[in-house]
Amino acid sequence: MSEIIEPLRGMNDMLPDEARWWSRLESVARAVFSQYGYREVRVPLLERTQLFKRAIGEYTDIVEKEMFTFEDRDGQSLTLRPEATASIVRAAISNGMLHNQRHRLFTIGPMFRGERPQKGRYRQFTQIDAEAFGYEGPDIDAELILIAARMWRLLGIPSERVWLELNSLGTPESRATYREALRTYFTANEAALDADSRRRLVGNPLRILDSKNPALTELIAAAPLLTDYLDSASREHFEGLCARLDAAGVAYRLNPRLVRGLDYYSRTVFEWATDALGSQNAVCSGGRYDGLVTQLGGAATPAIGWALGMERIVLLMQELSLAAPAELPQVYFVLAGPAAVARGLQLAETVRDAQPGMRLETDLSGGGIKAQFKRADKSGATVAVVLGEDELARGVVAVKPLRSGGEQQECPFAELAGCLERLLGVVAVDGDGAARQDRGR
Ligand code: ATP
Ligand code: MG
Repeated sequence: MSEIIEPLRGMNDMLPDEARWWSRLESVARAVFSQYGYREVRVPLLERTQLFKRAIGEYTDIVEKEMFTFEDRDGQSLTLRPEATASIVRAAISNGMLHNQRHRLFTIGPMFRGERPQKGRYRQFTQIDAEAFGYEGPDIDAELILIAARMWRLLGIPSERVWLELNSLGTPESRATYREALRTYFTANEAALDADSRRRLVGNPLRILDSKNPALTELIAAAPLLTDYLDSASREHFEGLCARLDAAGVAYRLNPRLVRGLDYYSRTVFEWATDALGSQNAVCSGGRYDGLVTQLGGAATPAIGWALGMERIVLLMQELSLAAPAELPQVYFVLAGPAAVARGLQLAETVRDAQPGMRLETDLSGGGIKAQFKRADKSGATVAVVLGEDELARGVVAVKPLRSGGEQQECPFAELAGCLERLLGVVAVDGDGAARQDRGR
């Protein structure tokens, strides 16, 4: 036997039993984005390394130690995207989308960070990501937060299990004053810092506030507060956001230590957190990044966005048992002998044409009738359609209820779709071809 090839650490397979949680989350997200007029974009998984270094910042965990970076055959440095914002901004600039235009966009897809894998933290993970370009005032900040809140409601996640933390980082200018205050404070306490923080003290002392080292908690708690350095326009923007959230009935906690792990943020930053996932408590994080478009070479454009970690929300949904039950077939075709299989496949196609929402499974194992009935029963189907040599010769099938104990009946080939419809009810189908019966569970 050949040696088995092991999967990479922190990269997961999603197996069929898990798919329903994911599709539930994704369909809720898509429905909500459509309600708010957000349009989908898809951007490459691979970009020039420079993009992330310039956008996210050299002194961040992501750029310093988490990126999957390699050289291609031409010696060009490439990186698997660790997040979507930089790529979307790059795409908006590359495609000339930002000339006095406004956009509300979303994307869903995998991100890559070389972190230590643990529950809720992986090396390939999936984000649902929302971004808005061209909106200056706090209304869009509020809208983006309302979108996330609506998703939690539609998914059935109770508000005690996810809460919103809010802060304002002010403008780059007000932050510069604050940065110096922090530098003075941490320099005076340099002996207590770890190696990472000492490096950041030189590069970007704000990053020290984002440290996950518990030994630094007290020192960080006593550091000067960003709130005391806010410029008046940023303060007004922040108060506007709070007032809109109050009016919408969205609860939040002010957290003056929230700085987020990426350097491009200005003014509003926020994070939805949960108590369900240990230290991986952030489920959706975002903020305003008004300076990023110019930083990446585009025309000045105010912008804001958030990213939701799908794995973490799925873990939370599983803990709360918040997904549709597995989708079982409704009809199972038991087909005895090659001629019956050939005719049965045709018949199943006719029924699928007539009843697009009905779920039909055909037994193509070639096994005996007894084994096929066992599988029919195990499949969870409501009825079995049985086609053997005798039925084939007479142009009929036997339709056998598997759950109700009802009578078996015979049905001519041409009437099968109608007969199944009477037994199972019609399943309406919407424009996407998805059975409406399965929705909203
Ligand atoms: P954390 O503090 O947990 O490391 P982060 O600040 O690095 O999160 P962001 O870069 O803001 O996270 O990414 C947005 C969201 O993506 C997070 O709120 C989280 O839900 C999810 N996320 C981030 N990193 C991972 C990961 N390695 N595995 C799974 N989900 C992740
Ligand atoms: Mg992180």
